[in-house]
Parts: sequence; C-alpha cells; structure tokens
Amino acid sequence: MLEIGAVNYLILALLLLAAAASIVSGLRATWLRIAPEHGLAGLRALFAEVNWRSFATRGLLISKVFKRPASGLAHGLLYFGSLVAILGHAVYALGLVGVPVYSGTFGFVVMRLGRELAGVAMLLGASFMLARRAWPPERLTAPRARRGFVPMEILLLFVIVAGFVVEAVRLAQPGVAGDGEFLGRALADALRGFAGVGARGAAADGGYLLVWWTHGLLGLAFVVLITRTPMSHMLLGPINAALARRRPGVMLPPIDFEADEPALGAEKLADLPLKSLIDASACLWCGRCQEACPATQTGKPLSPKNIMLTCAGYLEQGRRDDASLVDELGMDALFSCTTCAACVEQCPVTNSPAEAILHFRRQLVMGRSEMPEVMAASNRNLESRSHPFVGTSANRDDWRRGLDIPLFEPGKTEYLLWIGCSVAFEERAQQVARAMARILDTAGVSWGILEESRCTGDPAKMMGNELLFVELAQANIEEFRELQVANVITMCAHCFNSFDRYYPELGGNWRTIPHSVLIDQLIRDGRLPVERDATQKITFHDPCYHARHNDIVHESRSVVMALGDLVEMPRNRKDSFCCGGGGGNYWAREGGTARISDVRAGEALGTGADRIATSCPFCLLMLSSGTAKHGAERKVYDVAELVVAALPGTSAETGGDGAGATAPDTH
Ligand code: SF4
Ligand code: SF4
Repeated sequence: MLEIGAVNYLILALLLLAAAASIVSGLRATWLRIAPEHGLAGLRALFAEVNWRSFATRGLLISKVFKRPASGLAHGLLYFGSLVAILGHAVYALGLVGVPVYSGTFGFVVMRLGRELAGVAMLLGASFMLARRAWPPERLTAPRARRGFVPMEILLLFVIVAGFVVEAVRLAQPGVAGDGEFLGRALADALRGFAGVGARGAAADGGYLLVWWTHGLLGLAFVVLITRTPMSHMLLGPINAALARRRPGVMLPPIDFEADEPALGAEKLADLPLKSLIDASACLWCGRCQEACPATQTGKPLSPKNIMLTCAGYLEQGRRDDASLVDELGMDALFSCTTCAACVEQCPVTNSPAEAILHFRRQLVMGRSEMPEVMAASNRNLESRSHPFVGTSANRDDWRRGLDIPLFEPGKTEYLLWIGCSVAFEERAQQVARAMARILDTAGVSWGILEESRCTGDPAKMMGNELLFVELAQANIEEFRELQVANVITMCAHCFNSFDRYYPELGGNWRTIPHSVLIDQLIRDGRLPVERDATQKITFHDPCYHARHNDIVHESRSVVMALGDLVEMPRNRKDSFCCGGGGGNYWAREGGTARISDVRAGEALGTGADRIATSCPFCLLMLSSGTAKHGAERKVYDVAELVVAALPGTSAETGGDGAGATAPDTH
C-alpha cells in the first residue's frame, strides 16, 4: 500500500502557509498601487460597510457569471469543483490524526465520489477556458486580449491531471479498492505496468512520492501566482462584490460645492473613487460589458472594457497623477455613454464602468467646459429655461389645454403628478400626461400638478453638470417643501430615479412612485376597470432607469398582461437593450454604424407584437423614431395610453391612441 509520510504533509503544510503569505503580500501590493496614501487604515474604512448580500451572491455564488450559459457553466464547473476539491484536501489531514474522513457518507460523498466528480468538473471547466482562449469570441480580443490567462490555465490543467495521476498510481496497487473514483480507476488500468505503475517496493514508493509532490508543487505554484496574474480576479471579484453599492445601477456621489476646492470629477486615476480603481484592478477584460453596451454595439467610439483596461494600464504603470488619462479616453467616447447600466448589470466582478465614465464627464464639463455642442446647448437651455429642449415651440401648458387639470393644494391633495420636461415639451409625450390625468380621475385619486413644470435635472447630472443639477433640484425641493408634498407620481423613469436616488441627499424626502407602479396597483385594486383584449399582442420595452437602475420590472408587465398578451423581446427586464436616449444622448447626434433606437425598435418589431409598450417618455420618443425608420405604422405607446384605450367607452379618438397625435419625433 503506497503511503505518503507525515513529514511530507508537514512540509507541504509549511509551503502552503508560505503560499498564503504570498497571496496576502500580493493583495497588499495591489492595495498600495490603488491607494498608496491611504494605507491599511484606508482599507478598513473602505470595508466599514460590507454588502454581505452581494458578497454572498455575486462574490461567493458567482451569480453574474451565469448570465452567459456556456462560459457560466465552465466557470461553475471549475469554481464549485475547486471548492469540493479544496475541502477534500483540507480535511484529508484529519485522517492522519485518526478522524475517519474516508468512511461513512462524508467519506463517499466528498472524499471519493465527490472529489472525483469535482476533478472531472475542473478538468472540463479548465479545458473549456483554454479552448476559448484558442478560439476566442470577439469580446475577449477587442480592443485587446488580456495576456496571462493561457499559461495559468495550462498550469491549472497540469495540476488537475497530476491529481488524477496520483490517484491512478495509488489505485493501480494490487488490492487497493476504489470507491467511486471512476476516472482514477480507468487511468490506473491504463497506466498499470507503465514506468512501474502498479508494482511494489521502494521504486514504486519513490515514484508515487514523485507524482504526489509534482501535483502538490504545481498546485502551490498556481496559488503563489494568483495575485501576480489575471487570476487575481478570483480574489478581487468577491472583494469587489463586498464593496458593491446596495442600490442597483449607477450611483454618483454628491459633490461638496462648499469645499475650498470642490472635487469636480476625474481627469486622472487619483481623482476617481477607490471603488473605481479596484474595478480597474479586478477587470478581467472579459468584454461582457461591451457586448451589452448599446454604444459599442452600434459602432460608437465607446467601449466600457476599454475604459477599464486603460485605467488598469495607468494603474500598473504607476500613473495615478497623469491627467492625460481623460484625454486618452476621449471626449467622444465618454459622451457616447447612455448611462444605461448594462455594463454594470453584466460585469461578473461587480465593476461599474459607467460610474467611472460619469466621473470623467464631470471633469470635462465642470472642470474644462468641454462637451459636445448639442449637449452644451441643452445644458444652456436648462440653465436659462429649466428644461433641456432647445428650440421647442411647445409651451409648458400645451398638454393640458382644454382639460380641467387640478393644481396641487397643500394639505388637501394627496398626490403630486410630476410633469417634468419631456412630457411638457415633446408633443408626442404630452399624450402620456393626458392619459395619466384620465387614469387618476377614473380611479378617484386625489391629485394635482405644479403650476409650472421644471426638469428634475437628470439630464444635467448625467451629462456631467452636477452644479446645474443641484440648482434645479434645490428649486424643486424648495417648492415641494412649501407645498408639503408627500407623494409624487412620475411618468419618466429618469425623474423617478432622480427623486428617489439623489434628491434625499439634498434634503428632498417624499415618496415617489412611478406611474406604471401606481397604475398596476389601481388595476389590482379594481379601481381601473380595463377590458382585456386577448387577441392583442403587446411587447414591453424596459426603461433602463426602471429595470436596471431600480429593479422595477414586474409592475409594467402586470399592467400589460391586464390589457393583452405579453410577448417578450429577446433582451428584456434587467437585460433589456437601451433606447439610446439616456445620459443626455437624447440631444446628441449619434454617429457609429447604427442608431441605438433603430436597433431596439427592430427588436421590438421582430416580436410581431401589435403594440410596443414602455413606461418612460424618452423611451417612447426614441422608439417611436426607431419604428418610424423601420417604416412601421405607429405602434409605440406608454402603458398609461394603453390603459386608457382599454377603459370602457374609450375610443381611439379620446383614449390611448391619443387625440390629436402627431407623428413621432424623428429624432
Ligand atoms: S468591466 Fe467587467 S464586464 Fe467589462 S471587461 Fe471588465 S470584468 Fe468584463
Ligand atoms: S452605461 Fe450603458 S452605454 Fe454606458 S458604458 Fe455602460 S453599457 Fe455602455
């Protein structure tokens, strides 16, 4: 019977300790590269608030990785196989002190069949990874492939194969009964007689020791190299998951404008929040972000992967204070971002390229006064007229002309229906407000509007003009306070996000409810007697600022299902594809190979649905424009319009098809 002496285990244990120390030292070096001035105290501060849920789901259960079935399966096999293998190795030593780890259920499930299956899983997973490096998808190679994975994956394969060889040499011994080690047994049968495998005596003992140490040393080498190669993502991924924000989507911290030198965004690495620098370090260059990014996918100059790898390059080279970073990233790329958060949603290591982009934008806009001219014009309009629609001939009150719309009365009205800018100034979107007024009246809701509608400031904030956002927000907050507003209904996903996410930081505290959520509630309460038309097929486009930024995906679907037959687009819910209008891009001139709205409209039309529903005026306008380009008749509606059309006694003339509808904006 071949045995490994205790002294070998002792030496291996000491070497393992050294390898663990090397990991700690590698992580320390990474931290010092990220934040040399912060030291370990900075690290403690960073982890003062750990997001345990994200750590458990994204970090330990690698939930995001499974968004891609093939690569997710390979990662799952490798990762969970490794966990079982590590557990098996870790408890093996207990057998040396008389704990029978090889017997009973545990012995079979973990130490024999379990480890065998884990080894096979790892073998399959590592082989897939290596094969994918040989025949890589474009997301791995564009704009650049990360070097360092291939040697580590080869090393890992050697570790796994060597493990099976050790097992086979042991099982090849006469009289050794296996129990569940099916692959080891087959290998033992194949190797028996080769180089003395299966023989007895000192030579056999020496051969066994040799393969055992080969397996052990290869494994140790892999561990030592983890923090010095791209395999560091195995550690940085869970660490980054623990640092994830509690809210989904993008979170831009406020700027202290009272400070002597307010931090106006980032032009160099040192200006970025530490989380963004950890993002750059954890980035795998896997390209999942750019594969989901509407800008990259329509040929714009932006790739979120490129943002991350450029930052990572500067970090590696110690260029924390090199202000050429923002220039290298380029204004065109940075302003192509629609802030849709698809990159955030897809990233397997909890990175947020969008947040880094927005920090750079802040610097360009507020620090250098640089931004695309069309966006600058909307900013100027926001400054002077409190809305971003340059050159509109519409008047704020056009939407309510001829209607009896109540004003909000303090202490009397329950809900403020927030009109905002697009609903007031875009003719097509005005019909949403009219439909909403009808819904609220039908349901007997106590509601009213402000005398004069303003923008929440979302376009300014997302274009990088935080100062303007704060000014607009403060004006709104002041007015809401005077009117003692406690409940606000929004018809725009961007307004909802601003009110709910950013206004509380500025002292605005009230409950904000998206109109789709309220409508769903009213239908379920029986206050909106809609008539369902089962023959009507409706597809629903998720606004990014509802689905990805705020986890609102069910309510609008529930409304649609109360009206007709819901047919989903291939990309839906949190994996939805942007309409192209966010982040100030509604006002931008799109370049690239295609318009984002056209791509999404094509996807929606591809479902064969009779109607395309959405719950944000920017989506409504962008998709209306997109379907028009596809030559389709008018098909895009807000859920409120569809609900009104389904109310008894409503005709297309007065209901959801919108009286006086004009052709959609040919944006
Ligand atoms: S940011 Fe995330 S998704 Fe994008 S390349 Fe890096 S690891 Fe992959
Ligand atoms: S937020 Fe959207 S548009 Fe911006 S980089 Fe991420 S995926 Fe691309």
